[in-house]
Amino acid sequence: MSLKLYNTMGRKIEDFIPINKDIVRFYGCGPTVYKFAHIGNLRAYVFQDILTRTLLFLGYNVKHVMNITDIGHLSDDGDDGEDKMLKSARETGLTVAQIADIYIKAFFEDVDNLNIKRPSIICRATEHINDMIELIKKIEKNGHTYMSEGNLYFDISTFHDYGKLSGVDIETLKPGARIDIDKNKKNPNDFVLWFTKSKFKNHALLWDSPWGRGYPGWHIECSAMSIKYLGEHFDIHTGGIDHIRVHHTNEIAQSESATGKKWVNYWLHNEFLITDKGKMSKSKGDVFVLNDIIRQGFSPLDYRFFLLGGHYRKQLAFSWEALETAKNARKKLLERVKKILKDCPREKLNKCEEIVNNCNFENYKGYISNERLISHLINFKEAIEKDLNTPNALSFLQAVIKERNIKSEEILIAIAMIDSVLGLDIIKESQKLKETSDNLDNIDIEKIEELIKERKQAKIDKDYKKADNIRELLKSQNIVLEDTPNGTIWKVIDSK
Ligand code: AMP
Ligand code: ZN
Repeated sequence: MSLKLYNTMGRKIEDFIPINKDIVRFYGCGPTVYKFAHIGNLRAYVFQDILTRTLLFLGYNVKHVMNITDIGHLSDDGDDGEDKMLKSARETGLTVAQIADIYIKAFFEDVDNLNIKRPSIICRATEHINDMIELIKKIEKNGHTYMSEGNLYFDISTFHDYGKLSGVDIETLKPGARIDIDKNKKNPNDFVLWFTKSKFKNHALLWDSPWGRGYPGWHIECSAMSIKYLGEHFDIHTGGIDHIRVHHTNEIAQSESATGKKWVNYWLHNEFLITDKGKMSKSKGDVFVLNDIIRQGFSPLDYRFFLLGGHYRKQLAFSWEALETAKNARKKLLERVKKILKDCPREKLNKCEEIVNNCNFENYKGYISNERLISHLINFKEAIEKDLNTPNALSFLQAVIKERNIKSEEILIAIAMIDSVLGLDIIKESQKLKETSDNLDNIDIEKIEELIKERKQAKIDKDYKKADNIRELLKSQNIVLEDTPNGTIWKVIDSK
């Protein structure tokens, strides 16, 4: 089998054939950095990560570009509403640059916590204004624009294939409802390439351009930066399904009008994370960020495990109960792997680490000789090749860890190969669990209880220094104390 992907363009599963067989070039729309990414947004990036990891597993090199929107994304995806970055700056009293710095940092902390590989290139819109201006010049030269009331618009009537991605017949779209009625536009679906007439006084970010001092529309950044880093024709473009109708449709119109040729071969879109109120979104007020999950006692990897239990093209319903189920299932998995680790010489684990970081299936399959393991691995590969079917792929991971009477190092290598795609850090996490339980085995409980009693007495004697010293002594042995109304309790903490 070979990789098959569902292409939104054409709405069918297709064999994946890269333009250049040695390297897959892919662009994923990145975050707008005006607030914390919510866990629905993060689904989009875990999906991009599974795609990257799958491509690596199948032996491709990958050049993955992600943009950071730090200008131009209005509160409506079209040309309506206020710039999200400027609104956030106005509300907090910070500058746009400060807002961007805070949320870029927070975003990449989430990315690291979720074990998402960093893209090869991360590019900020505000650092690519010249590239955008150059691209707009080409679009203008090719006759696809008009000026109206100080703003430069893209004229969709000049682009024959407008709407081909969403399959919406533009003729049938009437102004009203969800489409902005802007009297400066010839067609309500025309969109701004360059604003010079800000709707807001004191617009903080303005650049000189051939059309006047102003700022870019939102969509042009993705066209300009993807072409700059990946060329005029590349393999894959991803985003959430909400981007199909406006953002990606407009990206295609711009890019193909500028170059006169096909821009992207495969369009992949993830479905929404939903709650009982529908799509998780800020406006509905039931939004959680990754830190909420951590505060509730979950690991970010519990959330990743939960996400992998759903296919990226299906809606996934978030609830705390569902997350609890995922947490328990992951714990069970790690407990089982912990047992396998007990029988494996430590030096053999280096190979696993190498594999989990970058596994090309063909290069490593020779390390497995057991027939049953080989068959689970092939089943796993076929599941992931079938449009990234992670729920199915997880079942073959379960089959591997349930195996008995096979050398533990061979099982661990198979786990590492699978985990190079799933990104659950299974062996490392199981090792941590093992170390915690090894520590517990070595703990002298009587000694701890004695020290707690001594600390209690020290507090009664108002010898707070001694009480603190005892707390610190225990902490240095990874034991933390917690004073509760029912007395002092102790816990073993992770030493890392
Ligand atoms: P934004 O920062 O608003 O541009 O969104 C970042 C990414 O998250 C985009 O690819 C969106 O399509 C995606 N997205 C937004 N809401 C959800 C959701 N509830 N579930 C999954 N993906 C989402
Ligand atoms: Zn984009």
